[in-house]
Amino acid sequence: MPRRTKIVATLGPATDDPVVTDQLIAAGIDVVRLNLSHDSYERHRRRVELMRERAHAAHQEIAVLLDLQGPKIRIGQFTDGKIELTTGDNFAIDVHCPITAGNLSQVGTTYTKLADDVNSGDTLLLDDGAIALQVVTVVNGRIDCTVLVGGPLSNNKGINKKGGGLSAPALTDKDREDIRFAAEIGADYLAVSFVRSSDDVRLARELFYAAGGRGGIVAKIERAEALNQIDDIINASDAIMVARGDLGVEIGDAELPAVQKHLISRARALNSVVITATQMMQSMIEHPIPTRAEVFDVANAVLDGTDAVMLSAESSIGRYPVKVVEALHRICVEAEKNVTRSGHRLDSVFGRVDEAIAMAAMYTANHLGVKAIAALTETGSTVKWMSRIRSGIPIYAMTRFSPTRRKVKLFRGAYPVSFDVASTDIHEVNREVIEELVRRGTVRDGDLVIITKGDRSGVEGQTNIMKIMRVGEHRLLNED
Ligand code: PGA
Ligand code: MN
Repeated sequence: MPRRTKIVATLGPATDDPVVTDQLIAAGIDVVRLNLSHDSYERHRRRVELMRERAHAAHQEIAVLLDLQGPKIRIGQFTDGKIELTTGDNFAIDVHCPITAGNLSQVGTTYTKLADDVNSGDTLLLDDGAIALQVVTVVNGRIDCTVLVGGPLSNNKGINKKGGGLSAPALTDKDREDIRFAAEIGADYLAVSFVRSSDDVRLARELFYAAGGRGGIVAKIERAEALNQIDDIINASDAIMVARGDLGVEIGDAELPAVQKHLISRARALNSVVITATQMMQSMIEHPIPTRAEVFDVANAVLDGTDAVMLSAESSIGRYPVKVVEALHRICVEAEKNVTRSGHRLDSVFGRVDEAIAMAAMYTANHLGVKAIAALTETGSTVKWMSRIRSGIPIYAMTRFSPTRRKVKLFRGAYPVSFDVASTDIHEVNREVIEELVRRGTVRDGDLVIITKGDRSGVEGQTNIMKIMRVGEHRLLNED
């Protein structure tokens, strides 16, 4: 049985060697992430090209996800590069302080409206929460604080407000340029950071499409206020990411596990897709094996129903980029053995014929002991609906469209197959489908297979047929 949970690996200096690239592909990465917070377009372009070339050579489909930096709000720099804050000290963030002239008593910020979003009594968290400041007064762009938790503080560290509410728009000028770059290199997914509302998602999609992009939009859930309108955000996007790094700083680390479960369950309930991200294998940046806690974290995300687990620094700058993918693989495969049925959509009314066929196929597959599902698809939407139902049965997305094949790389339990419907004879098509699965070693004589397709192939949204076939008997079918 192939692994159902998908692996997203961030590319970086640690993965640039073609040998490592080949090993990552062999280890089973499904999606590569390029983090636009770092590196030049040239480097990203080279990474994408290398990955595509090696994936092609290995006859594998790998989807490309470009992750926008977003309005990460940061402090400026210090004259001495860093300072040491002591608990109880006074310290100010002042929008008028020159950006490079920070010192022991104050520092500037890249976000000139910061003071408008902050009130006395608020807690500001710097450097992913390593430093905490309590706001005392806000006067004329200057935020005077008391240091709640001190420690070393160096240049350009991020600022979060506990509880959320920093209103910087989700798309910066840099992001807008990066969106054009994403379109140009043909990103399969574009991830939008610090999404506040569904409007941010729609705007990103508009800009991406206007630039010629055709991929899906991933809304990164990392702001407290996004949680209040999560259904809207899920409905406006193609997938969400549980961005536990920034989210944990805003809402508190202890709140994260319950929020992760909620986000995964909402995404699945609304027929969307979800990536669980950040620090899943953090210790493997330095060590060849994960901690027990990391093993449990990954396994729990799988049990929660995530579509994909993501590596950030573990793969991009870590010492063991291949070993960490291998570790994810073995943890996911074991955890998947314990997944139970969900009862997903048992009470819902279906709005479309293709959706109803997808649901009927899964119900049947789960209750009839079917070995594989083959969905002949144009856009992959049938496959997405199918893969929302918990099941141990592989769903093959059979399509001649390579963007669709890459899109489904993010869907749990779905696998792309390059397949062109050459014949117009329905028996011949069924035969070809089953022969393809036999060739792949997925099924053998006697196995049951479900095929879904449309009367008119080549037209999207037309799936209206579910066919159950026994392998072996397909050879006896007569031509019409
Ligand atoms: P980042 O997003 O790695 O781009 O910051 C993920 C997160 O915040 O968890
Ligand atoms: Mn983030």
